Amino acid sequence: MTFIKRVTEGAKSLGEGAKTGAKNIVGRSGDLVETTKLKYEISKLEKEVENNISALGNLVYMQFKGGVDHEEEIKRLLSDTRTQEEEIAKLAEQIEKLNPKPPVCPKCNSEYPPAAKFCMNCGEKIEQEAPPAQERPPAQE
Ligand SMILES: [Zn+2]
Repeated sequence: MTFIKRVTEGAKSLGEGAKTGAKNIVGRSGDLVETTKLKYEISKLEKEVENNISALGNLVYMQFKGGVDHEEEIKRLLSDTRTQEEEIAKLAEQIEKLNPKPPVCPKCNSEYPPAAKFCMNCGEKIEQEAPPAQERPPAQE
């Protein structure tokens, strides 16, 4: 009897452990789902920006060729496109927050585990005392 009870209790706590584990996984895949959603939004916006810019090109050329005034439409498209680009930047920022970048070796730029003392790729000594990563300057175009 006692044996059976102990086994059951063991199974119970195991089950609880598994539940906690599953919860963590859900949390992580939740981020993944969020990231996928954000990336999808970005690709939609990028497509819109692309369309706007090609429409702008057409409007400008039509205006040049036919002397028709498309000034209003051009202005609208310009400001729409800028808004979309700002939106893309915001979404990209959110993705970055959801996926903090792992540290990289200052010499060869390969990623290393947070507690590493030496780069696993090139063997460069890693200074763990370094202050937390600063905001990176905007990527160069
Ligand atoms: Zn390295």
